Amino acid sequence: MHISRRSFIKATAASGIAAAFGGLGLSLVPSVSQAKLLPLRWAKQTTSVCCFCAVGCGLLVHTDKTSHRAVNVEGNPDHPVNEGSLCSKGASIYQVAENAERPATPMYRAPYSDAWQPVSWDWALTEIARRIKKDRDASFRFQNDMGLTVNRCDGIASVGSAALDNEECWVFQSILRALGLVWIEHQARICHSSTVPALAESFGRGAMTNHWNDIQHSDCVLVMGSNAAENHPISFKWVLRAMEKGAKLISIDPRFTRTSAKADLYVQIRAGTDIAVLGGLINYIIENDLIQRDYVVSHTNAPFLVSDSFSFKDGLFSGYKAGSKDSHYQGRYNKSLWDFAKDENGLPLKDETLAHPRCVYQLLKKHYSRYDIDTVVSVSGADKQGLLEFYRQYAATGKPDKAGTIMYAMGWTQHTVGTQYIRTMAMVQLLLGNIGVAGGGVNALRGESNVQGSTDHALLWQSLPGYLAVPDATHTSYKKHLEIKTAPHLAAAKDPKSAAWWQYYPKYMASFLKSMYPQAELADAYNWLPKADQGKTYTWLELFDAMHDGEFKGFFAWGQNPACSGAHAGKNREAMAKLDWMVNVNIFDNETGSFWRGPGMQPEKIKTEVFFLPCCVSIEKEGSITNSGRWMQWRYAGPDPRGAARSDGHIMVELMEKVRALYAEEGGTFTAPIEALSLDMWRDQKGYNPHNVARLINGTFLRDVTIKGTTYKKGQQVPSFALLQDDGSTCSGNWLYCASYTDEGNMGERQSRQQSPEQEKLGLFPNWTWCWPLNRRILYNRASCDLTGKPYNPQMPVISWTGEKWTGDVPDGGWKPGEKYSFIMKPHGHGRIYGPGLEDGPFPEHYEPMETPLKSHPLSRQRSNPACLSFNDEYKAVADPKFPYVATTFRVTEHWQTGLMTRHMPWLLEAQPQMFVELSEELARKLGVGNGDKVVVESARGSIWAVGMVTERVKPLRILGKTVHQISMPWCFGWFMPHDGSGGDSSNLLTAAVGDANTGIPETKVFMANVRKA
Ligand code: SF4
Repeated sequence: MHISRRSFIKATAASGIAAAFGGLGLSLVPSVSQAKLLPLRWAKQTTSVCCFCAVGCGLLVHTDKTSHRAVNVEGNPDHPVNEGSLCSKGASIYQVAENAERPATPMYRAPYSDAWQPVSWDWALTEIARRIKKDRDASFRFQNDMGLTVNRCDGIASVGSAALDNEECWVFQSILRALGLVWIEHQARICHSSTVPALAESFGRGAMTNHWNDIQHSDCVLVMGSNAAENHPISFKWVLRAMEKGAKLISIDPRFTRTSAKADLYVQIRAGTDIAVLGGLINYIIENDLIQRDYVVSHTNAPFLVSDSFSFKDGLFSGYKAGSKDSHYQGRYNKSLWDFAKDENGLPLKDETLAHPRCVYQLLKKHYSRYDIDTVVSVSGADKQGLLEFYRQYAATGKPDKAGTIMYAMGWTQHTVGTQYIRTMAMVQLLLGNIGVAGGGVNALRGESNVQGSTDHALLWQSLPGYLAVPDATHTSYKKHLEIKTAPHLAAAKDPKSAAWWQYYPKYMASFLKSMYPQAELADAYNWLPKADQGKTYTWLELFDAMHDGEFKGFFAWGQNPACSGAHAGKNREAMAKLDWMVNVNIFDNETGSFWRGPGMQPEKIKTEVFFLPCCVSIEKEGSITNSGRWMQWRYAGPDPRGAARSDGHIMVELMEKVRALYAEEGGTFTAPIEALSLDMWRDQKGYNPHNVARLINGTFLRDVTIKGTTYKKGQQVPSFALLQDDGSTCSGNWLYCASYTDEGNMGERQSRQQSPEQEKLGLFPNWTWCWPLNRRILYNRASCDLTGKPYNPQMPVISWTGEKWTGDVPDGGWKPGEKYSFIMKPHGHGRIYGPGLEDGPFPEHYEPMETPLKSHPLSRQRSNPACLSFNDEYKAVADPKFPYVATTFRVTEHWQTGLMTRHMPWLLEAQPQMFVELSEELARKLGVGNGDKVVVESARGSIWAVGMVTERVKPLRILGKTVHQISMPWCFGWFMPHDGSGGDSSNLLTAAVGDANTGIPETKVFMANVRKA
């Protein structure tokens, strides 16, 4: 099976699949389908959605009616986002499906073996089911060390997957939780987990606020912490469209990218200093009185008074306690000290003049007054004039008729202060009145096609679908859990203007429990949920640390490649050798499935049994995925599954049926959740059925229910989450998706471009697929109007009040203007400039990355985030001459994430064949490295080879009077493919296992490294 890259490219190019390609790239002119020009007589046409990034471009897939193989994939010209265009990855999708490298059968690697052996599906699933049962039963804990009920399986862990469809994600989380797992993680942890608490703390929901088409309405597009032109190429079409209408594009980045090349203004900064730069922007806005005052007073918590127990000194907020030697966190805060000052009803005191010294606005002003331009320049290395121009241009959007937007991605999320990076910009947007409006928002550019949906459907340890909470063991009963979760919202609801929407948590939790266990009493179903230990987190880095310590017997790596994707990937590879068994489900064999034969491994010493299960590619199966803009889009099956491949949903259902059968036959530990699981509802006679699951996710009336005079019959679909009940009479697998699959049909399948003139002006496309929540395309849209319902910008109204009703987008609650506050998911109904719910402070503060060239910085005496996740036994390079260069990682257009799929696609591999490192001309001269020379890049954790690319894209910076060099590398390569090793290995072998204080997302975007000639 091992062939060289060159012969692989030739072989696949000669495979005889004829493909006709439609629009490619960034043309602003919608393309015309080849199929419309030349009707395909011998092919069937299906629509699908690109399986790579979360722009969610629409596809037309043509499948030969005789061979049932894909013969053409092109952009769907009717699709509102891509209008027929595709980037290089989307345009090459057929090469994923029609690829001779796809394993034809399941494979098994026996302990200490040096080879795979092909096996049958029945054998593989039976053997996996036996191991699940054995190790679940052996490691099951009914109580924790405190004697509290936990009902969980500690011996098995799972990662994956944002590559699954929504329905598969929901099924997978149900199976894992019915088995009792709490170690549940996936890509979202390591790419965008910091987005969720940052945006939820600021606005109420953890998702991109606007959507792709809306970017065209912006007057100023800030691209910072992302490189949209290369990594979300079709999204950039909407940036260019905004620029055609006069918008400015600003690019702030450690390296000059293709986004920078199109920008009106580019400013280079040192990786890891974005909070300093944005803190300077807040200072500039306040100093020059550029806030949108009516918006700030009406819609944000700037007027709220803060308790006297809140303070900030020398880089620490009040209430800090350093972590113990055994803790994975550097320290923790007592957040209760950061609360608001409250009246006798427990509601925040306010000063709408914004003059009170304890009001949020004045505290904000004081906090960021330290971020003066010279200090920011000295820390970040930015050009002073460039920075001032950035501040001037962006702050100009703080006017009612202007809108500025931010597009960010992993350049912001992957830091030990990642959550606070995003918070800083959320605060800027609130000060400028840019949330809820057209062309505004905080737009998280999700990198995986369904990372939004997989997060919504809770493949993460801490949440249940719809962002309900995984209970901790101190929530000793269902009643207590509900009381704890609703208390702050019920308290806030004493203010009649506060919708405090999470007060309805019991309805969503009851409906979720009923979706997993329809016949059970709610208290029993709650008891069956596995419980976390209070105060403990089960995040990605901790999962692999526990695996490295030998704590797990079994492991699922489902649609994920942690041998390359995670920080300190070498530790992950070592950790897998400590397992008894591992299941790897994927399209291609990869660095994870074959870890035992990777570089430095000795198969004869590795006991881990590995099962590789080949799954379908996206165009071979049916189901929905949710793009970054929250559009739930249905995909249809085109070609048949190649070889013996099965859809992930089929694999999950068959595996769980085998597990259930074993328990029925033999008995075992804590069998009730396995027996009672709604497994039979997920299938039809042929097996897994995504429509059945999608209906269950939406929810159904389980008995006749009369609500406000209307009777809903048992078996009817619940039309809206407003009708879900807390008494067990409704089920809904995910309340956020309630209204997505009603008695009218599957809303995600809709493909009508019909819209009202008002909606057309905004490009809302309300009849194209469906969007959570309730098909609302722009979140927090009540904040786009003043308290009388008049849009701040009447030229571009998102919603407006006619005197009787709202028109435009679906409003964030249908109440009359002024009747309720606009940020309905927050307890007090206001956008949070002051965010007391985060683990590392209510105001973002600049801290150095955990690896840094500086021993100290001028903003405080606290060098790094005092609350971050960090393992005490791992070395961090701080001002270490052995690792003198600031290193960062990035993606290229041609490869996607670890490159697992794209390195198997000949056209893309040809375009980007191997690992390289970008070096400035100055650094290259210093090292004696020429363009194209092979170099070794090394960090405190490992080393890799790379081709030196000497470029003007990076320049040395002056930081606190010293010259600092930066280097940058892609992270899309791995040893497995190309098979001849010509691609190199993952740059995550170099990155540090340190994580954000709120989410544990690894700091893969900055570390210290050395470069030398090979
Ligand atoms: S990778 Fe992203 S931008 Fe490219 S075609 Fe796919 S969805 Fe569109």
